[in-house]
Amino acid sequence: MDYKDIVGHEHVVQSLKRAVRNNNISHFYLFEGEEGLGKRTLGRTFAKTLLCEKKGAEPCNTCSSCIKFDHLNHPDYHEIDPEKGIIRKGQVEEIIRGMSMSPFQGDRKVFLMDQAHLMNKEAQNAMLKSLEEPPSYVHMILVTSSSKNLLPTIISRGQQIRFGQIPLNLVSEYLVDRQGMETGEARFLAEFSKGSLGRAVQLSSSEDFFQLRDWIIELVGFLVKGESWKIFSAVERFTDEKDRVQELLDIMLFWFRDLMVYKATEDLSLVINSDKEILLSEQSFLDFDRINDIIKKIQDTSMNIQLNVNYQLSIETMLFKIQEEF
Ligand SMILES: [Zn+2]
Repeated sequence: MDYKDIVGHEHVVQSLKRAVRNNNISHFYLFEGEEGLGKRTLGRTFAKTLLCEKKGAEPCNTCSSCIKFDHLNHPDYHEIDPEKGIIRKGQVEEIIRGMSMSPFQGDRKVFLMDQAHLMNKEAQNAMLKSLEEPPSYVHMILVTSSSKNLLPTIISRGQQIRFGQIPLNLVSEYLVDRQGMETGEARFLAEFSKGSLGRAVQLSSSEDFFQLRDWIIELVGFLVKGESWKIFSAVERFTDEKDRVQELLDIMLFWFRDLMVYKATEDLSLVINSDKEILLSEQSFLDFDRINDIIKKIQDTSMNIQLNVNYQLSIETMLFKIQEEF
């Protein structure tokens, strides 16, 4: 584990390195940003750096502390995760006990709590107490995707580090170099995941994601040809894939956005389904207003499903609406 493995977040990395170089390391950090951006990975790398015996701005990867860290058995590094979706007071009390004992190996102890927003109220109050006067050797990193669920008093005590989106080209390079993906698919996933590396990696290892995408695109093709009888079996499949419906609707949304862009520019470099040019060109006879209406309908359907409107009916209405539009 090293800063070299971090994708994007250049300014965060620089500011953490600077803090170490200037010996201006905070005792409490709050890493916040959406899921899948690599916050925890960066937190671990920072923790490893703080524990490294060489005391440089980056982990040396050779000292006994770095080796223990990589083998996940460093005695002065502790990670706390939610249990069944909650972090309870008992877990925080365990941290506090851990804090009160001096480091075993070096002169620092690092605690990293992932999904800190899942602390319940009692846990947060206990945490607040522990942050009041932590021993000088303690460093705490809270990682969260939604700090609005944390007590303002916790937030204000920490040094906040915001994680922004990872540039799409870096996500797609990572998928090609590290995951061995083909460039077109990597580019699609980078865009589809909106710069969330974790999401992109997860989808790249999902066996059927690209099959689902092909199915959706094929379905749109049938609707273009007016083959409305396909809708009934499609609704069935949508019902089987109910857990992934937002993914399916996103695939559909991206398709119609591409259609709009392709129709306007005929520039393949601007569309994310760039491997489907023939289909895009076949369907570009649709006029802009119609495509717009369809996009709006898909967005409404997505919203309705989140609001628990009748699932089957929403999907069916959407598919008929798309078919009508053609
Ligand atoms: Zn080291």
